[in-house]
Amino acid sequence: MQKRAFFRLRAARQRVAGMTAQQTEHPTEPTNMDENLNFDTLAVRSGSLRSEFNEHSEALYLTSSFCFGSAAEAAERFKNSDTGYTYARFTNPTVTMFQDRLAALEGGEACMATASGMAAIMSVVMAELQQGDHIVSSRSLFGSTLGMFSQIFPRFGITTTFVDPSDFDAWKNAVRPETKMFVLETPSNPLTEVADIEAVSQIAKAAGALFVVDNCFCSPALQQPLKSGADVVMHSATKFLDGQGRVLGGALVGSKAFIMEKVFPFVRSAGPTLSAFNAWVLLKGMETLSLRVEKQSANALEIARWLEAHPAVKRVFYPGLESHPQHALAMRQQKSGGAIVSFELKGDTPEQQRANAWSVIDGTKVCSITGNLGDTRTTITHPATTTHGRIAPEARAAAGITEGLIRLAVGLEDPRDVRNDLAHGLDAAQ
Ligand SMILES: *Cc1c(COP(=O)(O)O)cnc(C)c1O
Repeated sequence: MQKRAFFRLRAARQRVAGMTAQQTEHPTEPTNMDENLNFDTLAVRSGSLRSEFNEHSEALYLTSSFCFGSAAEAAERFKNSDTGYTYARFTNPTVTMFQDRLAALEGGEACMATASGMAAIMSVVMAELQQGDHIVSSRSLFGSTLGMFSQIFPRFGITTTFVDPSDFDAWKNAVRPETKMFVLETPSNPLTEVADIEAVSQIAKAAGALFVVDNCFCSPALQQPLKSGADVVMHSATKFLDGQGRVLGGALVGSKAFIMEKVFPFVRSAGPTLSAFNAWVLLKGMETLSLRVEKQSANALEIARWLEAHPAVKRVFYPGLESHPQHALAMRQQKSGGAIVSFELKGDTPEQQRANAWSVIDGTKVCSITGNLGDTRTTITHPATTTHGRIAPEARAAAGITEGLIRLAVGLEDPRDVRNDLAHGLDAAQ
């Protein structure tokens, strides 16, 4: 399909630009050659669509529309806007390359890129559901996702029941005749709860619901939910896929039928499209994905072990630690523990806990006080007053997000420097 689109694009461009024979003598094809290549090879080699100039790196197509050789060709191309390039709200070759690469890394048939992770959440719901439909979702969700499910979608008649992600009976009991979708994030933000994708997928299947997994925290380098029974993987590409804190992006990966027949018509019409420039930045990020995530995971484990031994720390939440309640499941389901470490400080009252947490955060000079994660630079956040600040205090407490909790998204600095950076505030908190 891509190949046809590419040759059609080239033919049109030759006609319009009057290309010389020399420039077109060596036609190149999309370099998605072999489906049996391994992950690290796919990360640097898949999703490369070369133009007639045979450029080695991915070209950045900064254009909002594409030209046609004739009125008849324009008519034909608009009729098949999924296979030919017409307008960048529909498709763009740089975005196609990003989509093909992410589909390859997740082991999915097709991918639709979106402007952000939240645009991906919106698109999967708008593509699949209608008024009166019902979602069953893990209650441990990214703050804005929780906001969409609990405040925005109900206005359009789409309601959600939230369940403890590890309680299989709760998933089963929440199913109603109008249930159409299951949503799971694992590991969760910020407490790194791990849920069994395979087990939840079986309940979703029995309920006839589309099973959507947010794979933001692990990235495909550590976990490929489609292989464990998920129907759709959603991403905030803003996080590990970029990996350097530069651009927003999102994506949905799944079957060709779902992505092309349900998601694409929505994205094409409503316009939560990924920009070509952001796709190009993300393509560069994905080339180093597994290198980064594996090193960040190793750094995170080292820091988590050190935190666990520190007298000012009450508890550490990290799937790679033996003390994590779902450690065995995490080690089975994920390649490693990931880069997110949360920890709770001691303190007699919530006020004392908050003061201790803030003094650890304010004592850092290396870590960045910022809400993003998945960056090469370690970021430090106080969830209760930032990412989860808008949630009702009772709901926050029920979710276990206390005033003493700090979330660390470990980067690529020398972990000894991050430890020393945290030690200023931790030693003072004792
Ligand atoms: C950041 C994030 C999102 C939202 O992505 P944006 O790109 O910020 O819109 C969704 N889910 C998880 C788990 C996230 O961390």
